[in-house]
Amino acid sequence: MSVRRKLTDILARLDAAYDFDGWHWQPDTSPEYICIGAILVQHTAWENVERAIERLREAGACSLEAALRRSEEELAGLLRPAGMPLTKARRLRALALLAEACGGLDRLLALPRDELRERLLATHGIGPETADAILLYAAGHPVFEIDAYTVRLFRRLGLGPERDGYAVWQRWFEEALPPDTSTYRRYHALIVLHGKQACRSRPRCPGCCLLEICPTGRGAKNVSP
Ligand code: SF4
Repeated sequence: MSVRRKLTDILARLDAAYDFDGWHWQPDTSPEYICIGAILVQHTAWENVERAIERLREAGACSLEAALRRSEEELAGLLRPAGMPLTKARRLRALALLAEACGGLDRLLALPRDELRERLLATHGIGPETADAILLYAAGHPVFEIDAYTVRLFRRLGLGPERDGYAVWQRWFEEALPPDTSTYRRYHALIVLHGKQACRSRPRCPGCCLLEICPTGRGAKNVSP
């Protein structure tokens, strides 16, 4: 079976097992909310991001423009539920400054894909995963976002490139799957949901939707073939 067919089969199984409609970023989610969330979700769970965003809203500071009007300390106080508050306040303000320098977030997100990625990566606190979350979910570009859940899952499935590294994994997916924004969004979201619920650091293989095709799960001592 080709890699593309394997990936399509895995997506179908994940799709049947998890509810993409419950994912926090849907096609109609505002790009600004996605950008703010992409920074705040670094190293924490989405539930903590929601609590931080609620505090921003209550303070009338839930926008990139508002982030520039607040001091780092003030912003950090609001972001505390998301962890690393001062770091994230600096990163949020750095993204806000980038948007301002481009004439606003809409104009920033309208830049050609490679230029946008380059500018994001040159911004304080934005690495490949955060940049690609913004490219994929906020700007609508078909880039396959890689994260730790993805690498862990596909290694356990016996799939993926020989070498590791963000760009190597991304190329592997993008060479196998046609560039399609909604498919890439869906795939990434379902991998994360699966990584949180079943394929955790200690995987819960019994009952897993991928058990039938997973050598790791089928080799686990506590799993019936
Ligand atoms: S069977 Fe186990 S190791 Fe394989 S994908 Fe499912 S949870 Fe992960």
